[in-house]
Amino acid sequence: VRIGENTDCRPLPLGEDAAVKILLVEDEDSVAERLAQGLEREGFAVERAATGAAALGAAPADCVLLDVRLPDVDGYAVCRSLRARSDVPIIMVTAKGEAVDRVVGLELGADDYVVEPFGLRELVARIRAVAGPVRVGRLGVDARRRTATLDGESLALTPKELDLLALLAADAGAVVTRSRLLERIWGVTWYGQTKTIDVHVASLRRKLGDPAWIEAVRGVGFRLHEP
Ligand code: CA
Repeated sequence: VRIGENTDCRPLPLGEDAAVKILLVEDEDSVAERLAQGLEREGFAVERAATGAAALGAAPADCVLLDVRLPDVDGYAVCRSLRARSDVPIIMVTAKGEAVDRVVGLELGADDYVVEPFGLRELVARIRAVAGPVRVGRLGVDARRRTATLDGESLALTPKELDLLALLAADAGAVVTRSRLLERIWGVTWYGQTKTIDVHVASLRRKLGDPAWIEAVRGVGFRLHEP
């Protein structure tokens, strides 16, 4: 399912079919060009900024993809400034091994991060999880507007259930690991009982009306698909 694509041929509310706008903040031209092309193929509209200053002066976007290493100011400072004035979803791009920095990014208000090198599929899933909308058959999830529908009917979900569904729907058909769910929904520093996830999955299955929507993959995580 591609963002912005009306896959089920039913009329969508005004504006919902507009492409999700990504502000891509990256100083390396070749990297930015490759990413922009990939994201545009996936149906996103991409605006580029090569410096922190350009990022802060850019038009509002639906999601900011923010490289940590920029020539003028570092990505964390940009993240802090953006967050101070807007709740736009921010995904930080960090280099391998910068574990502490990732935590810093999340504490500064980033919604998620990707670690280089990453694949386009992973990146798209991360973007969809924070800046939907995503459609999986009869199910619609819009992470940005915090809504979910089944057969066009609104689902009454708790905030954590919506986060969980958005993460699973963003990469429907693929297994999302328990550690990723814990990290994204319950915070990076919390690695307590994973039982909490099972409780939320059980509740979500009840609300979806069919447990087959969410398949448990033993010892790994969960996979969402239309029964
Ligand atoms: Ca860079």
